[in-house]
Amino acid sequence: MKVRQIGAVAAASVLALSLTACSDSAKDGGTGGGSGKAFKVGIKFDQPGLGLKEGSKYTGFDVDVATYVAKELGHAAGDIQFVQAPSAQRETLISTGQVDMVVATYSITDKRKAQVSFGGPYFIAGQDLLVRADDTAIKGPDSLTGKKLCSVTGSTSAQNVKDKVPGVQLQEFGTYSECVTALVSKGVDALTTDNTILAGYAAQDQYKGKLKVVGAPFSEERYGIGLKKGDKATCEKVNTAIAKMISSGEWQKAVDTNLGPAGFKVDAATNPPKQDACA
Ligand code: GLU
Repeated sequence: MKVRQIGAVAAASVLALSLTACSDSAKDGGTGGGSGKAFKVGIKFDQPGLGLKEGSKYTGFDVDVATYVAKELGHAAGDIQFVQAPSAQRETLISTGQVDMVVATYSITDKRKAQVSFGGPYFIAGQDLLVRADDTAIKGPDSLTGKKLCSVTGSTSAQNVKDKVPGVQLQEFGTYSECVTALVSKGVDALTTDNTILAGYAAQDQYKGKLKVVGAPFSEERYGIGLKKGDKATCEKVNTAIAKMISSGEWQKAVDTNLGPAGFKVDAATNPPKQDACA
């Protein structure tokens, strides 16, 4: 046992050494147009139109916002490393330094502000419901009593329905795509989260004609960029970058490219938003 442990330690040291060597040479080499130092950004991996990973390709509005903001902060696109940030893990990923920022349909809330800081908002969405296309009974949160509803752990969506509809049977999963699967197979009657996310699923080829968004939003979700708590300097740079993305027309372009194909109607009364002052 002892011998094996020593062996493991030795192997780990060799690995650590070679990893160090690797990152050093990457820095010196300067390949891919970046400085070689990774800038880690937490995004969703399973939300079409927002944050979607397909092989080694990342697409979506959050990906475009993250790439634009990172560039303004001095990080080349080639230096960005996308990390999966499920709803319940976002605060931890930021506070432990596993990511440098989170751009993942991440609503700014007072509760979250106790653990992280937010740049933004860069988009205003609203909570809605996704149901099967032939469902005529569910028209809003008021028609959910006794129904099986799905949402995601650690999201504002789950918390809001618990507060608003105490009679609902809420099933919480780790990701929204798991809820979509349950909705299609009739394991649940509805899925609730932001209308942006729901529109992306409803428009996916495999769900076309099978699912529909109810279309009566019942909350305001202000998407922020999550940063280490108290990093006011970065927050201010992030806000400047978002404002530039909006004034340059790049924000509208990203909206059209990513949310347009799903036929998502952006609420022009609240978008594009003005950024909050950094605390
Ligand atoms: N925007 C809401 C939130 O931050 C719901 C979407 C999500 O879970 O990412 O909780």
